[in-house]
Amino acid sequence: METPLLHIEIEATNYCNTRCLHCPREALTRPLGKMDWDTYQTIMDKVMEYTPNFCVVFSGFGEPLLNPYIYDFVKYVSQKGRTSIITNAAALTPTNVQRLSEAGLAQLTVSFNGTEKTLYELMMGGLEFERAQKHLESAVALTNGTQTVISANVSVTEQTKDHLLTIKNDLERAGIEQIYFSKCHNRGGTLQGDNICTTPIPLLEGHHCQIFTDIMFVTWTGQVLPCYHDMTGMNVIGDLRVEPIEAILCRKKEIAAASKVFSICHGCNDLYQFAHTQTPDGRPLSDWVFDLYTDRETRISEEVVALSKWLFAMYMQEGSSDRFFEALTRHIECQNQEIEALNTKIQTLQLKDKALMAVRENRIGRSAAGVRKICSSLFSKKGSE
Ligand code: SF4
Repeated sequence: METPLLHIEIEATNYCNTRCLHCPREALTRPLGKMDWDTYQTIMDKVMEYTPNFCVVFSGFGEPLLNPYIYDFVKYVSQKGRTSIITNAAALTPTNVQRLSEAGLAQLTVSFNGTEKTLYELMMGGLEFERAQKHLESAVALTNGTQTVISANVSVTEQTKDHLLTIKNDLERAGIEQIYFSKCHNRGGTLQGDNICTTPIPLLEGHHCQIFTDIMFVTWTGQVLPCYHDMTGMNVIGDLRVEPIEAILCRKKEIAAASKVFSICHGCNDLYQFAHTQTPDGRPLSDWVFDLYTDRETRISEEVVALSKWLFAMYMQEGSSDRFFEALTRHIECQNQEIEALNTKIQTLQLKDKALMAVRENRIGRSAAGVRKICSSLFSKKGSE
């Protein structure tokens, strides 16, 4: 059985070359610095010894390309696990893209919060739009045909929410295949006011944060924090320089089992805490965020919408809105299961088709044993197709 994926987020540095509109950097009171080679090597040796199934994301609370070791960091692990970087693209020169790609980087995600000069520069703290655009274009061209996939992340704020369709179209035209829309959040309660971010604060009852359980966030000093929103570093869970990774993972499990809520969690509205891996209909959370602010191409009929609203009003009147959502979620889950079953049937039929084609092409004899042989060889390949 395959071991579960270990998702490590490494803060290569918490220095940054800009101050994005939706980033409350001034609240960062942890010491500033860059991860040194020894710290990185110690941590990653422990990770690689612990599991062959891991991925490393270089992001956190700074710009990873400001750490000169970043290319060596990627190279050190990219043959063994999946590597990914999130960057603001200011330092993403053609030379640097080439160095990252040659180091084996799997994914390069560019924060691109606007495809029009005024919006982009407002969102990205004054970084020059033309330069970013040029960097993005050359990154797409240089990584074409390599293992490095370029994607873009768009933060959905009060300023960007009405431009999502244009941004999506422009980025697709630029050759970006994966575009993520992330609803702006308040960084564990530090970004105040609703002129940038209006995401509601969720109820904390039964709190189980999927960011905490699924990701191990490591600061540039090697400390493990609950997540990248811990600006003060007041909730240290362990130190990967001096402790075995097993001890820290075990501590995290105990904290999750006890449903412990850190002080930063009380005001946190990061949607991924609930839906890092699961959404009501199984689509990525990014699609839900995009749908919230854009017109869908296929609209649900007006009668269905009116009936749903009427039913919802009825449930509300009885003080049972939770039951309404439970019923809806159950229904969606059933539909997903049906779709999955249909997909399996389709795959089986396709395999049968292939077998018949093979017989028709006389690749095997006409005997029943021969047909059985080719069928079983095709079906045994099913998992790899
Ligand atoms: S709830 Fe928010 S602040 Fe708390 S661990 Fe999860 S992501 Fe971090």
